[in-house]
Amino acid sequence: MRVSCLMLVTLRDDPAEAEIPSHKLLIRAGYIRRLGPGIYAYLPLLWRVLQKISAIVRQEMDATGALETLLPQLQPADLWQRSGRWAGYTAGEGIMFHLRDRHGRELGLGPTHEEVITALAADLLRSYRQLSVNLYQIQTKFRDEIRPRFGLMRGREFIMKDAYSFHANEGSLRKTYAAMDSAYRRIFRRCGLRTVAVEADSGAIGGSASQEFMVTADAGEDLILTSSDGSYAANQERAVSLAPEAIALPGGLRAAGAGELLATPGQTTIEQLSAAHGFDPSQLVKVLLLLARFEAGLRQPLLVCLRGDQQLNAVKLANAVSARLAPQHGVLLGIEPLSRELASELASKEGLQLDLDAIPLGYLGPDLEDAVLAQPKISLGLDPSAASSGTATGGAARAAAPLPAAAPHLARSFLRLTDPTAAELAAFVAGANKLDQHRLGASWKGLKLQPEIVDLRAAQPGDRCQHDPSQTLAAARGIEVGHIFQLGRKYSEAMQARFTNEAGAEESLWMGCYGIGVSRLAQAAVEQNHDADGIRWPLAIAPFEVIVVSASAQDPIQVQLAEQLYQRLRDAGIDALLDDRDERAGVKFKDADLIGIPWRLVVGRGAAQGQVELVGRSDRQRRDLAVEAAVAALLDLIPPARCGLQ
Ligand code: ATP
Ligand code: MG
Repeated sequence: MRVSCLMLVTLRDDPAEAEIPSHKLLIRAGYIRRLGPGIYAYLPLLWRVLQKISAIVRQEMDATGALETLLPQLQPADLWQRSGRWAGYTAGEGIMFHLRDRHGRELGLGPTHEEVITALAADLLRSYRQLSVNLYQIQTKFRDEIRPRFGLMRGREFIMKDAYSFHANEGSLRKTYAAMDSAYRRIFRRCGLRTVAVEADSGAIGGSASQEFMVTADAGEDLILTSSDGSYAANQERAVSLAPEAIALPGGLRAAGAGELLATPGQTTIEQLSAAHGFDPSQLVKVLLLLARFEAGLRQPLLVCLRGDQQLNAVKLANAVSARLAPQHGVLLGIEPLSRELASELASKEGLQLDLDAIPLGYLGPDLEDAVLAQPKISLGLDPSAASSGTATGGAARAAAPLPAAAPHLARSFLRLTDPTAAELAAFVAGANKLDQHRLGASWKGLKLQPEIVDLRAAQPGDRCQHDPSQTLAAARGIEVGHIFQLGRKYSEAMQARFTNEAGAEESLWMGCYGIGVSRLAQAAVEQNHDADGIRWPLAIAPFEVIVVSASAQDPIQVQLAEQLYQRLRDAGIDALLDDRDERAGVKFKDADLIGIPWRLVVGRGAAQGQVELVGRSDRQRRDLAVEAAVAALLDLIPPARCGLQ
């Protein structure tokens, strides 16, 4: 390829739209152009990078016996209704672009393909003899991300490799999961990335075990916690740890029961209380009032207790609330603090009356009575008994038919949850459920209402590890480039994907799924490999391996030798680019550095004597070599067995 034919436009200055180095560099070096929020054109240079990544992905997937396929991006709503995810993906997080066709039928633009592939499996896989199978595809996915940003890192249209495996039993699923784990490690290593594998939350996809692969980089959106011995690594969404020891209340205050009342006017936060009375935050129990919204109309108030010095992990809370209520009430659409604004929104938009004046916000104790949720006397709301019919659908029935849309209705009792660090306190300070009053020396036994104990706290850097308390967790930022899941039978049960086992009985298929963000990976490679002058592509995924530059476009000897070298390299199977522009040498060198081609072959004044200069983009090393030696060096430096393009 010749630079003159490349439609190359490079920019000297950082574009205003970009915040992180990789995003700036991909725009400046002419790899991508933005068309709208989260929508990017992949220009020819980037397309070569994407093709090289895809070729590595294909090689490694094929080597495991996986089969390539291509599935529809237009996905009928009924598939998603059968899996129970339509509402969550449209009304809930609303991540799926969805539309109606000319006949009024609803469709979604594929954000992922569990539904489509499970429907195919239900149709095609009948017997254990056909198992196991693993199908993969590389294609564009669509997600209406809440915050598209950082260029290709979080696009609304992006390229993903997704694979789905089906099995006759869990052992077989585990084997393929392990094979995918190894394949992923090889893929990322071959792409020249430094990654860590971390325990992950399974999110909206569902299922049991899952692991993410993170490219470590300061610009990463994910927080990873790793033990000092490296034997434990987890996404903070999922991470567990030992909290620091709580400081016991002084002896005299270790009273049992509900505790003594303490006047605390205007002290509604942990900080204010601690400052006014000299408490350590670990002596307090903070009580959060939240509201969970469910697909089938349930609005469930939550009372969540945490030790005062600990933070809530919203992902753990959503999982706990979902596990308890989603089987009867459909998908959890969201959890928000139950504020006055939310209460008035509930009243105006959903006709639900909640008297927040009955609730002393800022002074809540774990035993806040359900009576505060009672229907206010003068109610303009809907009749709750009329609405509740929609919630009667049981879990098993749900799998077969979508939940009927139900009017919103408010539960009149709390779901009460506490983190163990709060539950373990022998005596604590908590709100007295009365304005301007707390209780000192309260104990759980002394409270009439007891919450359920579940892990809800966010593990923090510096915490001691559970597997070995002498180790501590350190934080690093990561860019998630891959995620593998053992889905189990969640989708096959919901969508009736069944097979006949060896004993002749029917059972649901076991399933796994495995994703790689191909376009995100390309940018993550830049985030990990750049310097002040531009990109430093790892050789295996660079758009070109060598750029041949003649220092002077006016010198016929240089021009001719550059042309010859370019042809020689191409004939030898090397991805070479020839900068044939009539530009000053400095401009060409700057562009070569910015674009980030791993090797630069400069044909300059030495051309007449058959001398050229070979420069490494990464280490900046320059070598003056005879033409033949330069070609030999490049053949040596660029491995013959690789995914080249030409
Ligand atoms: P994230 O947590 O970053 O939103 P996810 O958990 O939603 O990602 P998966 O559903 O596991 O992602 O998708 C598989 C892979 O696709 C991810 O590991 C990531 O590399 C990539 N990916 C996901 N969302 C995007 C996006 N909006 N833009 C680019 N790549 C993405
Ligand atoms: Mg993920």
